[in-house]
Amino acid sequence: MGATRIDGTTIARAVREDVARQVRALAANDIVPGLTVVIVGDDPASHVYVRSKEKASKEAGMRGDLVVLPAGTSESDLLAHLDRLNADPAVHGILVQMPLPKQIDQQRVIERIAPHKDVDGLHPVNLGKLFGGEKDGFVPCTPDGIMEILRAEGVETSGREAVVVGRSNLVGKPMAALLMHADATVTVCHSRTRDLASHVRRADIVVAAIGKPGFITGAMLKPGAVVIDVGINRVDDASSPTGFRLVGDVDFASASRVASRITPVPGGVGPMTIAMLLRNTLRAASRLPVHDRVSAGAGA
Ligand code: NAP
Repeated sequence: MGATRIDGTTIARAVREDVARQVRALAANDIVPGLTVVIVGDDPASHVYVRSKEKASKEAGMRGDLVVLPAGTSESDLLAHLDRLNADPAVHGILVQMPLPKQIDQQRVIERIAPHKDVDGLHPVNLGKLFGGEKDGFVPCTPDGIMEILRAEGVETSGREAVVVGRSNLVGKPMAALLMHADATVTVCHSRTRDLASHVRRADIVVAAIGKPGFITGAMLKPGAVVIDVGINRVDDASSPTGFRLVGDVDFASASRVASRITPVPGGVGPMTIAMLLRNTLRAASRLPVHDRVSAGAGA
């Protein structure tokens, strides 16, 4: 019997509808949550991402602004833009689209965003709060969205073995912290891990955030594992009008024969990332405490 396909689009829609309801309620207090996305350069894929974020924030009833800066923008100019956005009371959330051009130090930019407007959750203050178990920071959107998927699917995390493949600040590390707070026993694998398959095979929950198409195969999985595929990789496909298609870090065909549930790519984790960005922006505007991460694993 094949694995159940987890429908991230439907779970994300429920989050977005809930956010839109709360945005309407805030309007009674004359508060309109505002998200500003900053993009430097003209990378077409990045422009697609930022336009979808801007559109989603407008659909939720928020103010969505886009700041487009030329590829040659200096670091000091970008930092000056961020200072203005930090000081603007109508801007509740700021997101700088990565990657940035070579002349700009990414970490310096992340650290310039005011932590209370850092809806991407990458500022050291927010990452520190996450790892310290404090609930009033912002959690990076992709791992936060994965916890929402696990909750929506009723996946038990307490006492379960979770293996996260990938250790980036954006996905792997915060994912490990969230699963640990949800009482899972967490192993983090990376490019120097020896015999990666032996770790993955122990896992009740596998999160793949590697950036390599089809890297995790069914042969590596424990029967019945829940598999969350974060990867977004372009592979050539002559039959597609674009000449490529998107695939994950998991070999969907072989993994779905072994797993109990699995997220597809596209339509799994991807839609959750934008939904959680909207939720973080709502929280920034209304100063709601971040949801109770410790009870994140409650369910069947
Ligand atoms: P990243 O910063 O490039 O990190 C990749 C991680 O994978 C690193 O920790 C790396 O290990 C590890 N890795 C690479 N090759 C490996 C190997 N052969 N064996 C074991 N580990 C290996 O990437 P990221 O930003 O975390 O993103 C990962 C993937 O998720 C990408 O495909 C990205 O496009 C996608 N993504 C999707 C969303 C979404 O909304 N769905 C959001 C963010 C990212 P080392 O640390 O040892 O180098």
